[in-house]
Parts: sequence; structure tokens; C-alpha cells
Amino acid sequence: MATLLTDVHTHSTFSPDGVSPLEEMLKTALEQGVAFYGVSEHVNYDMLVAEEDGRVYATERHTDVEDYFHTARHLQEDYAGAMNVLVGAEFGYADDARVSAMYKALIEKYRPDFIVNSIHTIDGVDYWCGSTFYKEEKGERVERDKAETYKEYLALLLRSVQADYDYDIVGHIGYPTRYAPYADKSMPYKEYAQEIDAVLREIIARGKILEVNASGDSPLPNRDVLERYYALGGREISYASDAHATTRIMKGRDKVIDMLKEIGFTYITVPCKGEKIKVEI
Ligand SMILES: [Zn+2]
Ligand SMILES: [Zn+2]
Repeated sequence: MATLLTDVHTHSTFSPDGVSPLEEMLKTALEQGVAFYGVSEHVNYDMLVAEEDGRVYATERHTDVEDYFHTARHLQEDYAGAMNVLVGAEFGYADDARVSAMYKALIEKYRPDFIVNSIHTIDGVDYWCGSTFYKEEKGERVERDKAETYKEYLALLLRSVQADYDYDIVGHIGYPTRYAPYADKSMPYKEYAQEIDAVLREIIARGKILEVNASGDSPLPNRDVLERYYALGGREISYASDAHATTRIMKGRDKVIDMLKEIGFTYITVPCKGEKIKVEI
């Protein structure tokens, strides 16, 4: 095993919320000495289906997957020998057989090098919108109980880990904590131990990789969740900047790696075409 830099969850302007073009993202990653650079443009079929049903809170653009895979495969060849570019995708999970079928079809057609399976929406609405945290009561909009919304998310998360399509990485566990209206937004392990254990055990049993996502103010998941994953025998972990702009590539990596080493992790796992590459940290 060699010590190499990895960043296996990034976006570009192919994604609706991307800021920098893919060519610039790759150029910057190479300049930073990244050895394994994973591109995971958003594929939000969860939202596409919600739009068809008229349930979606806000309509958004979608990644042109045909254009993306075509362009990215060419760039992958251009970088061969200089940097390992992994052409992947980030799937937005939904409890919907139509969505699963669309993801399976995409996998069949484009054979992504890796897939990050993430939750962004519940019932077709992105947690980012905030409305999930409220309900109507006697004609008034009131905040829902924190434990109720978080346990609802963790139940959905467990079903996403059990998704019936192939994927490699479980993305940003704790996503709703970024957008929750509560004074204390945290999702501590001890308060949700039963639900979180079920998720972590499922990740380990299925041989999936747990992501540490450094795009926010603090990494997702929390350190206590990562400690529990390690205690349960989980060793496969991934670092993600989740960069949407060149300035964010490799963001917070040193802090994440220091934390992982303190917990006991000795390597990062990079998925590529069904293989798992161990990279020493
Ligand atoms: Zn995401
Ligand atoms: Zn992402």
C-alpha cells in the first residue's frame, strides 16, 4: 500500500449545482497531486419522478448523463498515466421502484466506475428546502419533533443501504442536520444508537464503503458514528470533498485523515469497476 491522495466524490458544471467545468476540476486535482479523483455528477431520478407526480418543492435542472459520460470518458483517457480519473455518479435514493429501475438502466448503459448512493430527498422534497421539518397544525405551520424527523431519515437511510441496484459508497450520513431548523441540529450516536447501528451493520454486511464527507462545517457522519462503525468492525471508508468548484477540491482532507487515524483506520478504500483499492493513510 502506498500513501496517495484520494478524493472520490466531486461534481462539475455537468451537475445542476456545479460551479467549475470538469476540465478545470481535473486540471486543479492534478496540480494538487491527487492520485484517485472520482467524478460523481448528480443523477436525481428521485426528483424526476417527484416532478412527474407533481410532488416536488422546487424544479431543478438535471445532469445530461449522455453528454457527461461521453465527455468524462474522453477526459479519463487523456489523463491516463497522470491521474486515475474515475467516472462515476451520485444517485439520489428514493423509495420508488421506478427510480430503482431507472438507476439499473443507467448502470447497464454507462457502466459507471463507481456510484455514491445518497439521500437528498424524502417524499420528493430535498431536505435542503426545509419544509420536511414542518407540519400543519390547526392551520398553523409548526416545527416537527427532531427525534421524529431524524428517525424517519434514518429509516429511509437503512432502506437506501438495502437498495436493489449496485452501488459502492454510502454518501453523507446525517445530511438533514445541515438544513434542520433546530437550535441543536446534531444527530449524536447515543440518541439514535439503535437506528444508526442498524445502518452501520447493514453497510458492513453488504460490503459497502462509508463516506466521510468534508463539504460542510463539520464532517458527515459525526466522529461518534465513525467510532461506532470501527467498533463494529467497519474498515472501509472513503474521503469526499464533495467539491462543486475547483477551490473546494481536497477541502478538509488533512483534518479528516487525522481523525480517521485517531479512531484506528489505516487505509481509505477506493472503488473502481467493482474492485476495491486500499490506499494507506
Ligand atoms: Zn449529495
Ligand atoms: Zn455530491
